[in-house]
Amino acid sequence: KDMQGKVALVTGAGSGIGKACAMLYAQHGASVVVSDIADEHGQQVVDEIAAAGGNATFVRADVGDPAQCEQLVAETVAAYGRLDMACNNAGIGGEQNPTADYSLDGWQHVININLNSVFYCMKYQLQQLLKQGGGGAIVNMSSILGQVAFATSPGYVAAKHALLGLTKTAAVEYAPQSIRINSVGPAFIDTPLLAQIPSDMKQMLIGLHPIGRLGRAEEVAELVIWLSSDKASFVTGAYYPVDGGYLAR
Ligand code: NAD
Repeated sequence: KDMQGKVALVTGAGSGIGKACAMLYAQHGASVVVSDIADEHGQQVVDEIAAAGGNATFVRADVGDPAQCEQLVAETVAAYGRLDMACNNAGIGGEQNPTADYSLDGWQHVININLNSVFYCMKYQLQQLLKQGGGGAIVNMSSILGQVAFATSPGYVAAKHALLGLTKTAAVEYAPQSIRINSVGPAFIDTPLLAQIPSDMKQMLIGLHPIGRLGRAEEVAELVIWLSSDKASFVTGAYYPVDGGYLAR
């Protein structure tokens, strides 16, 4: 178990990709802080990790609130004494409307939850990693929509593109302290985020993936855990798609 004795923090870990990441960090031996706004889902993930012989704690935090992001890091340190790896994963689909019709509130909200949140989380995570003398790894959850457009999601697409710039900047700032920071770009993954989508729309989405299916959360988690691990010791400031060929078309 290559992550024994290490501490991982995952936001939005009550569901979907975040849950898969939390489970896999635990499987690799890390102690995991499972964070979400959905208390029940978060607690369920903690219970599943414990049932599988792992070590996890739930900490509630709304990543749209900087004070709660700061508190989340403090509670991680209170629970396990340190922080080694963070996956800033929490995010929402947000309003769907073409740009001219996109509401001002909808824009502010999706930018706050999908972009500002990652800045807030990284700010306090980095302070903790620096306090420990450097080292550690951060993975930010972007999307294929961090590289290409998707009509009716201007706020989501803008936030996911912006995450790449934020990731690269922090990566060059803290490379000298051996803190590695990368982002990953899943294509459409079969999670509760896509549950509301009608089935004809789902078929259309499947058709956009040369592999001929949607992705699984576990397939994204494998990349996140690799990027977090010492195996990725020369990898920083990068964006990795995990997309069934979506961006290659
Ligand atoms: P999901 O809806 O299954 O899970 C997201 C989790 O985040 C939920 O448990 C939710 O309660 C939590 N959350 C929402 N708002 C929060 C907040 N303000 N503070 C803390 N937690 C909050 O979604 P998912 O598909 O697993 O998506 C996870 C991440 O992956 C998101 O950033 C999403 O944009 C990204 N992503 C998803 C897909 C996909 O197709 N599912 C594709 C590319 C990228």
